Amino acid sequence: MPATKTKNNQKSVLEYKRENGYLKIDEKEKKSISEFCSAYSLFLGEAKTEREFHDEAVKLLEGKGFRNAEILKKENAKLKAGDKVYYSAYGKTLIAFIIGKKPLTEGFNIVGAHIDSPRIDIKQNPLYENSEMAYLDTHYYGGIKKYQWLTIPLALHGVVVKKNGSKVNIKIGEESSDPVLCLTDLLPHLAQDQMKKSLAEGVEGENLDILIGSEPLKDKDKKEKVKARILKILSEKYKISEEDFLSAELEIVPAAKPRDLGLDRSMILGYGHDDRVCAYTGLKAALDLKEIPQYSSCLILADKEEIGSYGATGMGSNFFENVCAETLNFCSQSYSELDLKRALANSWMLSADVNSLFDPLFPSVSEKKNTAFLNYGICVTKYTGSRGKSASSDANAEFMAQIRRIFDSNKVIWQTGELGKVDQGGGGTIAHYMARYGMQVIDCGVGLLSMHAPMEVAGKLDIYMAYKAYLAFLKDARK
Ligand code: MN
Ligand code: MN
Repeated sequence: MPATKTKNNQKSVLEYKRENGYLKIDEKEKKSISEFCSAYSLFLGEAKTEREFHDEAVKLLEGKGFRNAEILKKENAKLKAGDKVYYSAYGKTLIAFIIGKKPLTEGFNIVGAHIDSPRIDIKQNPLYENSEMAYLDTHYYGGIKKYQWLTIPLALHGVVVKKNGSKVNIKIGEESSDPVLCLTDLLPHLAQDQMKKSLAEGVEGENLDILIGSEPLKDKDKKEKVKARILKILSEKYKISEEDFLSAELEIVPAAKPRDLGLDRSMILGYGHDDRVCAYTGLKAALDLKEIPQYSSCLILADKEEIGSYGATGMGSNFFENVCAETLNFCSQSYSELDLKRALANSWMLSADVNSLFDPLFPSVSEKKNTAFLNYGICVTKYTGSRGKSASSDANAEFMAQIRRIFDSNKVIWQTGELGKVDQGGGGTIAHYMARYGMQVIDCGVGLLSMHAPMEVAGKLDIYMAYKAYLAFLKDARK
């Protein structure tokens, strides 16, 4: 952060003061922010699941010359500086590399974000009828405040994989002519018992059942006529039967598109900023790298972060390590395990995940000096974790100093911020999975209001600064 000006207009290098980013930018940069965020808003509205984000990202990467590693393997290809490759794990996690000029053993510059977001998943045997209404039973995914999801228009996204392996893509509720789904809530007139419950207990997870139909089928032989009608529609429109739900991944997400927020249009209200705001800005940075970088660049778009990075597509798996090994193999005549370990340990990483912003309506959870503010730029977080930094990957001061240098010299507006005040709670990111390799890693992402709500708030200046920060890091991380 550059030195601030004191009241006497003298430069003070002794004090550190943060200020609103809008006071530091000119009209040209404001225009760049606005254009960048319009494109982001459109993308966010199209990519509402990890699979959708993955597929959109593959299109953009291929458009910029990134090649599918599976094809390169078949060709026995070798890669050299400037070549670009991507790897996919089951269509949900995507890792891309731009080969740099230096040997890979000197490490990668990595920007890693996640593309799964909190949502409500459909169970494996979900469809039932009760009181002549049809419902889908669900199990929510990630940390949600359940009451926020009631009575809003919801969309159904995902895939149904039939026994023969064929895939049916489902997206219902996004076109204005589409029907939507919803979770109902009790009317206030009859809610006196419910209103006495805590917010956590007021809505039970097992009761998050999606209303999906109410018109009975005129068929004397069917006992559950409303359910029968829904099955008929599913069969006619999507050629799927009730049994096909067994091998489906269907996700309930808010049906609304992202919108400009505020009369000044300075913010975006949308579903899934966590963490697609960092995933998109990281992706754009990788796409926009014009020159061949010194150190090889790596972009991670990971699945399953919201449930602890478990599973074959989560960062707790060996996928990242495996694709690094593949990349080393693509770049050398003889692969060595020691080279891989050196490449990983010598890497630098921005764990690109969102953080919480100070909310003046809920001031008690933050310590103001050390919390991020809206429009103050991208937020760098030395440590996450909770209650005594537990489970945090506490970044090294030496690395933090490098981050200061990189961002300041590239005119990135940035700030530091921790996730809530001490003992208030906390959270984690994928940082500690990467720190296991001994690499330098720090959390760095956009601050949000209403994180994990169906519609989250992000500031446009902060979004654009994330892009600038990731681009600077990939381009210019080490001096
Ligand atoms: Mn996140
Ligand atoms: Mn999250």
